[in-house]
Amino acid sequence: MSTSVSCRGDAAHSSTDEHTWSHLIQSKTFARYDSSSRTGSLASLALELLDEQKASWPQLAAGYASLTSVRTRELRCDGYSVWLQFNPGRIVSTGAKVDEQSIRERRCFLCVEHLPRQQKGILYNDEFLVLCNPAPIFTDHFTVSHVRHLPQSFEASAGTMLEIARAFRSRFTLFYNGPKCGASAPDHMHFQACPRGIIPVERTAQEEARRQHRRNVRGVDVFTLARFGRQVIVFESAQRAVLEQVLLSLVSALRSIIGTSEEPMLNILCGFNEGDWRVIVFPRSKHRPDVYFKDGADRVLISPAAVDIGGLVVTPLEKDFNNVNASLVESIFKEVSVAPAVVDGAIESLS
Ligand SMILES: [Zn+2]
Repeated sequence: MSTSVSCRGDAAHSSTDEHTWSHLIQSKTFARYDSSSRTGSLASLALELLDEQKASWPQLAAGYASLTSVRTRELRCDGYSVWLQFNPGRIVSTGAKVDEQSIRERRCFLCVEHLPRQQKGILYNDEFLVLCNPAPIFTDHFTVSHVRHLPQSFEASAGTMLEIARAFRSRFTLFYNGPKCGASAPDHMHFQACPRGIIPVERTAQEEARRQHRRNVRGVDVFTLARFGRQVIVFESAQRAVLEQVLLSLVSALRSIIGTSEEPMLNILCGFNEGDWRVIVFPRSKHRPDVYFKDGADRVLISPAAVDIGGLVVTPLEKDFNNVNASLVESIFKEVSVAPAVVDGAIESLS
C-alpha cells in the first residue's frame, strides 16, 4: 500500500492517488447511503451488513459467538442501578494504551487501508463507513468511522452525529467518546452505534421523577437527572441546526470553565425518535480511575467510556466482575465525573 493512500489528511494528492483511493473505498463498500435522499433506513442496511459479515469474516463471527457467554449482574447504587457486564472480548479496548506515544507508534486500526481483508462497510455520504465492531458489547454493535485519518473531535462532527442518528431512525443509538476519555482510536474520528434503549441512561433520562428541567435555549430543552451519582446533561429538540449550535456552545462553556484549550472530556449518546433528538452528555474530569493503575490484585480493570458511565459497566476480567461492588462503582463515577458546579456553570452559559 502506498504511503500517499495512508496520508489522506494531506491537502495535495495526485489523480493516481485519487484513483487508488476510490478503488480502495469501492472495494470496502458493502452498500452506500446518501442522507439527502432520506430513503430507506441506514439501520436496515447495517443489519444486512452484520448478517453478511458474520458469514464472511471469521473474526467477527468469533466475536459474536463469545458474546453469548457474556454475563451481567445488577448493582444497586445509591439512587440508581448499574449493570456489570463480564466480557473478556473487551480486554483489547479496556486495556488499550491511549497515551500519545503508543498511539503514534501503532498502526491505526480504523484507517481504511488497514481494515481486515474481509471487512466491509456502508459508505455514508462518502464521508463515514459504518463497520461491524469485531469486539461487540451488544447484539448489534457498529463503529462509524471517518473514511480519512482525522482526529477525534466532537466540534468537527456534532452536526454529522445528529444526521447519522436520524438516518438510524429509532433503531440505534449513536455514541461518542472523547479522545481522552474512552476512544481507543483518539487519532481517528469515529462514533459507535448500539440498539436503542440498551444503555441504562437512555431509560433513566425518560423518568419524570428524575428529570430536572434547567433551561430552554432557543427551543432546545435542557435537563439534568436527580440522584444519579454522576453529572449528566440531557438535550432534547426537534431542530437539528439549533441543537447543533447549543451543543457547540456547551463545548465552549466547558472549555472555558475547566480552563483547557483542548476538547473538554466528554462521553455523548445521541438518539432520534419520532422527530426528536435526545442527546445525553457526560462531562468528565478524568478518563481512568485510580484503581485502574494499582498493582496486582488491587487493580480493577474498569475504563469508563460512554457505555460504562451510561450504566453498563464492562469488566473484561472475571475477578472484577465477581468483586466489584456498588460502593466502588459509586466512587469511580464520582471520581471521573466533573463537579456539579461545572455543569451548573455550563448550563448557565448555553446560548
Ligand atoms: Zn486512522
